[in-house]
Amino acid sequence: MGDIHAPAMAGRRSLLLGMAGLASVALSGCMATAGAAQEEVLPTPAASILVDPAAPAPSRTAPAEAPEVEPHRPTPPTKQQIMAEFGARTPREWGLQVTGTVGRSAARDIALTLDACGGPGGTGCDQQLLTTLRKLNVPATLFLNERWIQANPALTAELARDPLFELANHGFLHRPLSVTGKSAYGIAGTSDVGQVYDEVMGNQAALQDITGHVPGFFRPGTAYYDDVAAAITRRLGVLPVNFTINGDGGATFAPATVAAEVGKARNGDIVIAHFNKPGSGTAAGLAQALPRLLDQGATFAKLGRVLPL
Ligand SMILES: [Zn+2]
Repeated sequence: MGDIHAPAMAGRRSLLLGMAGLASVALSGCMATAGAAQEEVLPTPAASILVDPAAPAPSRTAPAEAPEVEPHRPTPPTKQQIMAEFGARTPREWGLQVTGTVGRSAARDIALTLDACGGPGGTGCDQQLLTTLRKLNVPATLFLNERWIQANPALTAELARDPLFELANHGFLHRPLSVTGKSAYGIAGTSDVGQVYDEVMGNQAALQDITGHVPGFFRPGTAYYDDVAAAITRRLGVLPVNFTINGDGGATFAPATVAAEVGKARNGDIVIAHFNKPGSGTAAGLAQALPRLLDQGATFAKLGRVLPL
């Protein structure tokens, strides 16, 4: 995934280097079935790039009519085919950005992505946050875990009908995506190729049943992958996505911190926050940051508008 705007972030190597020395922050809002002592910890991304005046001018919001995801994509391989193709491969990388994952887009727009993790304590919906997005007409990509969908079927259908949003895949059991059982923040990852398939495709099917479309984007619970799991995700026709701006630290940040972090977003950034934690600082922080960004000329788009499938 090229980056046409920022020489300092021009490649995966520089991105990894940039992220390596950064302070970590808790991301407990994305905890799976973990106990209170187990927290996701994601690095605070590097300083954002400036808006590139040469970048093509985007529309503030994309037209509502056109589908974000090409509906006529090839049928993905079967579980048996995936196991045969990837079963002998050994992963070499483990982290938030590994070979095959997408951390940012080449577009001028900012992509706001909001996770709903499900599981104990994670099945809420931050209506205040959704109201802010609708009021400001800021589109977002919503990564739904299958457990959250099971707890909120009517709400999922409502969100699927809202052209301001697109639905994406946040896994079946909300597990780090590993072919060897690696863990992240004490949360056990998938243990083999077959479980990777189930983690991606189990929720892919649930989302397709609700939306009538094949979801185009995936982010695992904890946002951790190995490189083989990322390659499997791509082989299944889904783009493995992460982020450049950790907007709410798993819905643990105070509003002012959310506003400061999200306020760093510039063209091509992918912002992660959560909408399954009403009462957190996320909604209030976004209500501060988004109008400022809009006033500065920032534009927002769903991932389907800014990432190639
Ligand atoms: Zn999550």
